[in-house]
Amino acid sequence: LPPLPKNSPVGRLADGTFSRYAGVVRFDQLPISKKTKDGLISKKTQDELHSKFVSMTKIQRASLPHALCGRDVLGAAKTGSGKTLAFIIPVLEKLHRERWGTEDGVGSIIISPTRELAGQIFGVLNAIGEHHRFSAGLLIGGGGDVAIEKECVNKLNILICTPGRLLQHMDETPNFDCSQMQVLVLDEADRILDSGFKKEVNAIISQLPKRRQTMLFSATQTKSVQDLARLSLKDPEYISVHEES
Ligand code: ADP
Ligand code: MG
Repeated sequence: LPPLPKNSPVGRLADGTFSRYAGVVRFDQLPISKKTKDGLISKKTQDELHSKFVSMTKIQRASLPHALCGRDVLGAAKTGSGKTLAFIIPVLEKLHRERWGTEDGVGSIIISPTRELAGQIFGVLNAIGEHHRFSAGLLIGGGGDVAIEKECVNKLNILICTPGRLLQHMDETPNFDCSQMQVLVLDEADRILDSGFKKEVNAIISQLPKRRQTMLFSATQTKSVQDLARLSLKDPEYISVHEES
């Protein structure tokens, strides 16, 4: 490992100490499973995502050391900076460490503003998570058959959802159980709120376990994003990256 940077805001953890992994620049230097490391450079990843992932982008370098410790994260960085891997990797690692299996049900919920973005996250999860054995599902409304979803939703470990459809399941699906959920991700929080989903998101959060890790990512830092952060995050790391990654 490279030496720890002196007084680097990136490396400083909430308790004032420095993360051992601050200053690390490549994914294979992170304390993550071999399954995830392999997924980042696998053939499937290269075929489907047209890239293998070796060096971290700035937002990934800044947030992963915190997120992998289980801390809440508020991450702001512009579109295209690599926010997806900044939350997919901690989700996979948390469930891996907990030895999550089918019987354990919903372990993570990822909320996205649009069906299209949810589909993209699903594609990244499928490629990077190839060697893990977690089940994942898209709950995004539109063409999807809600009756089929109702039958299998409790067997899915990772749900990637739009707010409206997730709330529909919370309200209508008998036995829908997210009481064991470990990690919540609010992706593109600014767009979720701009799309008028504030009420839905607040209702969802009120039904999730209080003991959880939450990661909130956003391209911009608006007043409503800060309100949502106050409501959903506990003692978060604030990570804001402006420069080119
Ligand atoms: P954002 O959510 O911040 O808009 P994405 O997560 O969608 O960004 O990533 C944008 C692009 O950058 C994608 O094509 C992704 O494959 C690529 N990318 C992400 N992380 C890396 C990395 N560490 N190395 C190379 N390319 C990356
Ligand atoms: Mg994104």
